[in-house]
Amino acid sequence: MLNKISLDWTNIDTVFLDMDGTLLDLHYDNHFWLEYMPMKYAKKHQLSLSEAKEQLISHYGAMKGTLNWYCIDHWSEQLAMDMLMLKQDVSERIKIREHVEDFLAFLQQQKKHIILLTNAPSKTIQMKFQHVAIEQYFDQIISSHQLGLAKEQHGFWNKLHQQIDFKVQNSLFIDDNLSVLRAARQYNIAYLLAIHQPDSQQMAVDTEEFTAIKSFKQLF
Ligand SMILES: [Mg+2]
Repeated sequence: MLNKISLDWTNIDTVFLDMDGTLLDLHYDNHFWLEYMPMKYAKKHQLSLSEAKEQLISHYGAMKGTLNWYCIDHWSEQLAMDMLMLKQDVSERIKIREHVEDFLAFLQQQKKHIILLTNAPSKTIQMKFQHVAIEQYFDQIISSHQLGLAKEQHGFWNKLHQQIDFKVQNSLFIDDNLSVLRAARQYNIAYLLAIHQPDSQQMAVDTEEFTAIKSFKQLF
């Protein structure tokens, strides 16, 4: 039996939700970046798979936590490969996490302001929404690319607050990235939750100081 995660719903009016690894299974993204891309890259440059992985992973490492890391135009240019097209190749792996739709319907029924808050650029969001029909649940869809800062970067929440109206003390934010959650905590977002197992094909992660959701059923 899973424990219920008790939240004071009467005190929450805005719910910010991350996309990849939170509402959607991170398996797609991990598979794409760590398996499919190296294979394509190896072919293009006539490298062995392990050489391709090594080169790409060092590329990835240099970019992590910046907006460029999440930017498919940046990667298309850097690697001279059409990332959007490549992402479509393995799109059958894009999957919604179990009970997410029920949770979104619950939030809607409770009249919460539901905001998708993602580091994914709008092209990727649109591509994913062609495979998982959850777009209709959101009152707003915000990509950090619109703000010019990634969610984990200093100043992100300030910028966001200049654009949309919410109260930190009445906001819940769910994200699988601990750096992102810590930036939100610094901004005093009252309710923060992590994800126990962002990628269904990998081990669960240690979410350190954050309570982690094992199933969205725990929330309603
Ligand atoms: Mg995420």
